[in-house]
Amino acid sequence: MPAEMVPLVGWMQQRAAALDRDAAFPGEEVARLRGAGALTVPLPVATPTRDDAAADRLASVLMLTGEGNLPVARVLEAHLNALHLIARFGGPARLAEAVAATEGGALFALWVTDPPEGALRAVRAGATLRLEGGKQFCSAAGHATHALVTAEMEDGRRMLVLRLSAGERVTPLPAPLQGMRAALTGAVDFTGCEVPDSALLGAPGDYLREPDFSAGAWRGSAAAAGGLIALVDATIAQLRSSGRFDSPHTRARVGTMLAGREAARLWVQAAARCAEDPAADTDHRVATVGLARIAVERACLEAMQLAQRSLGLTAFRVGNPVERICRDLATYLRQPAPDEVLTEAATWFATHPTATVLR
Ligand SMILES: Cc1cc2nc3c(=O)[nH]c(=O)nc-3n(C[C@H](O)[C@H](O)[C@H](O)COP(=O)(O)OP(=O)(O)OC[C@H]3O[C@@H](n4cnc5c(N)ncnc54)[C@H](O)[C@@H]3O)c2cc1C
Repeated sequence: MPAEMVPLVGWMQQRAAALDRDAAFPGEEVARLRGAGALTVPLPVATPTRDDAAADRLASVLMLTGEGNLPVARVLEAHLNALHLIARFGGPARLAEAVAATEGGALFALWVTDPPEGALRAVRAGATLRLEGGKQFCSAAGHATHALVTAEMEDGRRMLVLRLSAGERVTPLPAPLQGMRAALTGAVDFTGCEVPDSALLGAPGDYLREPDFSAGAWRGSAAAAGGLIALVDATIAQLRSSGRFDSPHTRARVGTMLAGREAARLWVQAAARCAEDPAADTDHRVATVGLARIAVERACLEAMQLAQRSLGLTAFRVGNPVERICRDLATYLRQPAPDEVLTEAATWFATHPTATVLR
């Protein structure tokens, strides 16, 4: 599978500037990824025992896509996260249904962020559920065919798998995001939509159940690490072609970027294997992914600073891939509650002094 994806990386990189400029959805990229099997890559969650090869393969698919184009990786990550939750809480039959739909052209989104005005609600009306309210920060809004959403119900927070184009209304965010423009992250209002009871997935509270709720974040880190790989490569290529690589200061900065990039790659692999190991302790899985998330974030932020310091104003010129990747990465790295994630991981590892992330 990753072998089929390798030629797609350069192709995605070539098309990324135009998609960013036009804030255009990467439909062709999604189609080519579907053809390469990336949207139906076997998920470790579907295997009852530890399967490091499956975790490594999933990590490679996400990193290669991130290396090609971060907004595409965000769309793929959400799709695979939705399939993971369907497998986890819906079992093999529900997963097989979602995989068959994907092979037939479906793209799943994962919309769980409620707007400040209130959570999405689902009210029972006989055999159907009536939706009220909406979601914000919805990637692939207007392009996904299905969405896994969370909704408040009388028995608690539930997950629903919705077929889209059923009357929901998509609008751009009131203020657009600076980066990740091609992920088409908008707001979706479901008020008035009616869905069958069969849309429900899992039991009340399942969405917040650990380790899936927190440990799934490793997949976003894998996609971000892919962006980091592309950023370091683009920076080195530009430094070499401009004759600036020979400065010892530049070489030291590049060495630091390379060390951070390889550390991020190793963190992603360790986090993927630990997070996806069903025999591992739940809190260990969550804490490992917490450290990985912050380590990858730090490596990306440091690389952005060093790339900009090395290239100077060139790194800020529109049309330079370094400018776009830095903008996309800076936006994508803003994931929920980073301080809480770090302090909780610190607490767990401090109270389990013999635990390691490599197992
Ligand atoms: C490109 C992109 C695409 C996205 N796509 C989707 C999508 O498809 N579906 C979806 O559901 N969501 C999506 N999101 C939203 C995402 O899931 C998060 O909601 C969002 O990224 C949170 O970022 P934040 O920086 O606002 O986090 P916050 O958690 O608000 O963190 C911001 C800061 O506040 C601090 N903080 C957090 N909580 C507290 C507190 N209680 N008290 C004090 N300080 C606090 C944090 O430590 C941090 O320093 C997307 C986000 C991005 C960037």
